[in-house]
Order: sequence, then structure tokens, then C-alpha cells
Amino acid sequence: MVERTVLAGARVVLPTGVVEDGRVTVEGRRIAANESAEQATLDLSGKGYWIVPGFVDMHVHGGGGASFSAGDPEEALTAIRTHRAHGTTTMVASTVTGDLDDLARQAAALSELTEQGDLAGIHFEGPFISPHRCGAHQPELLRDPHPADVRKLVDAARGAARMMTLAPELAGGLESVRLLADHGVIAAVGHTDSSYEATLDAIEAGATVATHLFNAMPSLMHRAPGPIAALLEDDRVTVELINDGTHLHPAVLELAFARAGADRVAFITDAMGAAGMSDGMYPLGPMSVEVKDGVARIADGPTAGSIAGSTLTLDTAFKRAVTIDELPVGDAVRALSATPARLLGVADRVGSLEPGKDADLVILDASYDLVGVMRKGDWVVKPEVR
Ligand SMILES: [Zn+2]
Repeated sequence: MVERTVLAGARVVLPTGVVEDGRVTVEGRRIAANESAEQATLDLSGKGYWIVPGFVDMHVHGGGGASFSAGDPEEALTAIRTHRAHGTTTMVASTVTGDLDDLARQAAALSELTEQGDLAGIHFEGPFISPHRCGAHQPELLRDPHPADVRKLVDAARGAARMMTLAPELAGGLESVRLLADHGVIAAVGHTDSSYEATLDAIEAGATVATHLFNAMPSLMHRAPGPIAALLEDDRVTVELINDGTHLHPAVLELAFARAGADRVAFITDAMGAAGMSDGMYPLGPMSVEVKDGVARIADGPTAGSIAGSTLTLDTAFKRAVTIDELPVGDAVRALSATPARLLGVADRVGSLEPGKDADLVILDASYDLVGVMRKGDWVVKPEVR
């Protein structure tokens, strides 16, 4: 007899809309069909609670003081557990620019965690990015996207490579986009100095994601629309947004939503090791980052002062989206779950609260603060209900 858990009396966000006084039934590791006569195991009535799908983060570098760039499975698990406690039940591990051999070694280690189901894959951010838009990435380790080098990283990930961020205007850029698309790896345009026209070429070659749109790329200018306009206008492209209040002004976020819609926006954290921690000094790949008032900046070297990822967690991104950005809850949920799940090719298992899918869910109180997280039927954070 498989254990059944019935969560009742909450506002449940389904793909079809919000069900007031709804219920979610969990059987073993999966969501099951509700049976109306069944007694609630956990009655959340009268609290104004929400039940939403577990969040999916397609761009995250670490958390809890740990970094995926260490290429150490134990350290990676610390980052994974930190984000799970904040509602992210599915995530990829993002690397930062490094030496190719070192990145290949990291990828091999992270591929094991992908195989055992703790990660949904690997996202390589760099080294094939623009020296003019490298942000927190080490300039001396950047290189052009030679297809053989791109291939080396994809192979090192042993089937776990899900995405690579590159600057398509660099030598070998378009060829590499095609290579990635042919291998089922998302080619993401980012850390780029690309023009509007060159970005259209990259999309034509198979690029389908904009890495943290607006950040680390030329601004939208009225006579030179640059990559932002190209990436926003094409229905084949999904745009990542970092909703931490530092990377984007709320008005800019609203603009992106108005143009692309929640089916083409994926909220990401781009979080580094300090996510879920207090202010202080943290490593990001080979560099040091100082976190002050929750904002992470490179501490020294040629890129000193650059914003170095975020300390965001997706529960905070959700709360900001519905309170500060005033997005409808259903749109915020899609941008945090269904859209990234579809991109990562895992929408058959996660991304929405439908029977047959993994029992990955987040419970939020009436103020949108996280009170519970369940992953594959197990409580990561069990709500305290009196
Ligand atoms: Zn990043």
C-alpha cells in the first residue's frame, strides 16, 4: 500500500488557473488524482495558503556557502539542499569561466549528480563569451567558441550538458550554436556584444535562450536595438530574468513580460555561494566575491566591482514577482516552473501540479512567504500547522 497524503484547504495553482479551497493528493513520489470523499492529511483551511509547483532554476552557481564550480559532489549537494529549502526542487548546475580541462573535470563530477537525479543537468556559462561583456568572469580565461572546444565540454558532461551560454558574434559562434542544437544542448545567447542582426543569425542557427536578458549585453537603443530586441521578439526564444531588485528595475521586468509573456520568461537566481548565507567573502570559481547588503561583487582583480551573480533564492523571486512587480500569481508560477521545465526537457515529470508528475510542490502563506516544500513526495520543509 503506497502512502497517500492529502493536502487540502489551500489555493492551488494549476495550469488551468487557481482553485480556491483546492487539494493536492500525493501518492508515493507522485501527484495522484483527487478523490473528493478522502480525508485531508494536512488541512490548511482558513490560512490563505497557496500550493504551487516546485520551482525550476535553469541558472544557478551555488548556495549555502558552496559552489558548483568546485566540481565536488559533496559541496554541490550543499548548494542543492540550500536551494531546495527555498522551494527549488529542480535545478541545473551552472559553471563559470575556467580552464577547459578544469571545466571538463567539473562536468564529469556534476554528471554523476545528474545521473542520480539531484541535478537536471549542467549549464556551462563561459569561457566562450565576450571580453567586452564578461561581468564577473575572468577575462584572461575567455576564448572563442571553437567547435572542437565546445564539443570537448559537451562530451565531458556525458549526456548531462543541458545548456551553454556563449557570445555568438565570436569566431566559431554560429557553428557552435548549430553544434549545440544538433546535440540537444540549449544554445543560450549571453555575455555578448552582439548586434541585433547577428543575434537574429544566432537564433536562426538554433539559439533558444537569452542568458539573463538585459544583463551583460548592449542596452536597448532606439537606433541600435541590439540583442535585447532580437531575443524578445522571436517566439522561439525564452528569456531568463534575475528578479532580485538589483539586476533589473521592476519596470524593465514588466516590459519583458509584456513582450514575451510568461511562457517565454524563466526566472532564474544566477545565485552564487552566498545565497542563503549572510554578508561576507565567498569564492566564485577562482575569484573572491564580497557580499554586502545581499549584493555580490567581485572583490579584486581586473573585474573588481562587477556584480557577481546574486544571492537570490526563487522563493524571494516569486514573492517579488507578485508583490513588487504585481504579476498575476499564475504568470509568476509559469515563469518559475512550467517554462524552465519545458526548456530543460523535464516537463513530463515536473513544472506543474498534475496527476502522474513528481510530487514537487511549495506551500506559501498569505504573504507569499515559504512555509513548506515537498520534493518527490518527501518533505524538505514540513509546514507547521496548528
Ligand atoms: Zn550565471
